[in-house]
Amino acid sequence: MSVARNPDAHWRGTLYPEPMDFTAVRPNVYCAPGDPTTATISLIVGQEGCLIVDTGGSLAQGQAIREAVARATDRPLSTVVVTHGHWDHSFGLGAYDDLDTVGHQNLSEDMTCAENRAYADTHGIDLADMPLPHQGLDLIGVRDLGATTVEIASFGPAHTRSDLIVAVPDRRVLIVGDLVDTDAPQFDETSSLKGWVLTLDSLYAMLREDTLIIAGHTGPIGPGTVAHFRTGLAAIWDQAEWAYRRDVPVDQVYDYDELQWPWDRGTVEQGIVIAYRELAAKPTPDQSAGRIGPQFTGAGLPIQAA
Ligand SMILES: [Zn+2]
Ligand SMILES: [Zn+2]
Repeated sequence: MSVARNPDAHWRGTLYPEPMDFTAVRPNVYCAPGDPTTATISLIVGQEGCLIVDTGGSLAQGQAIREAVARATDRPLSTVVVTHGHWDHSFGLGAYDDLDTVGHQNLSEDMTCAENRAYADTHGIDLADMPLPHQGLDLIGVRDLGATTVEIASFGPAHTRSDLIVAVPDRRVLIVGDLVDTDAPQFDETSSLKGWVLTLDSLYAMLREDTLIIAGHTGPIGPGTVAHFRTGLAAIWDQAEWAYRRDVPVDQVYDYDELQWPWDRGTVEQGIVIAYRELAAKPTPDQSAGRIGPQFTGAGLPIQAA
């Protein structure tokens, strides 16, 4: 089994156009493509204000995004949502300190992950100077932009401990950060493989054929890509669990006879280590499935009249 790379190089392979500009993907929903090291920025415009998802990877990029928003719409930017703590999504926060900024309540913890510390070290950034979102979200939040409502929800630990999903229900748009990719998943010490599979199960249940999914490092994608990516993660989890129950040493799982893996060795071995760690841990109440409940309509349901 192999997973094809995103064929649309525009979204993964190029630098931000100068100046960076947003492209409409649905009425009142816009994206600016991320390059290989910076994440896609989404812009949702209502009658009274607008909201962006993710901040860019530096203060300068955050400022450039803010200027691009002002070129795209005359509605004031009111809210900024951070999908998770990785630097390419969160290190532009300083450009928005005067606004309503929203992140998961675990964001401060995830901001000091190994990847961010290494990036900060090589770029002369002091993590202690990095502003945090003014609002820490644990479960669900709603922002009314004037005739457009945006829902923000945590589905539990998955790609990181600080993942948030943003839905624009009446546009059938879901913005999912790095929870879905057309390439291999990015694992680190903040990932939960079990939680990631559960999160994508919950996410997939909300999708309809016409739901547009905006992920961190691809162009807009459809439900089939979510299903494909979820299958790859579940293949690692299920086979790692099978091997764990048979006492296969963790470093022998990848080469064990007859197991089939969806991505490259490096990625899969990281996933196996995470799975073994989670399988060895004492069971805890499931933090993911069913936590969101009916308040989060997501992109699959028509928005309810107030
Ligand atoms: Zn990313
Ligand atoms: Zn990430």
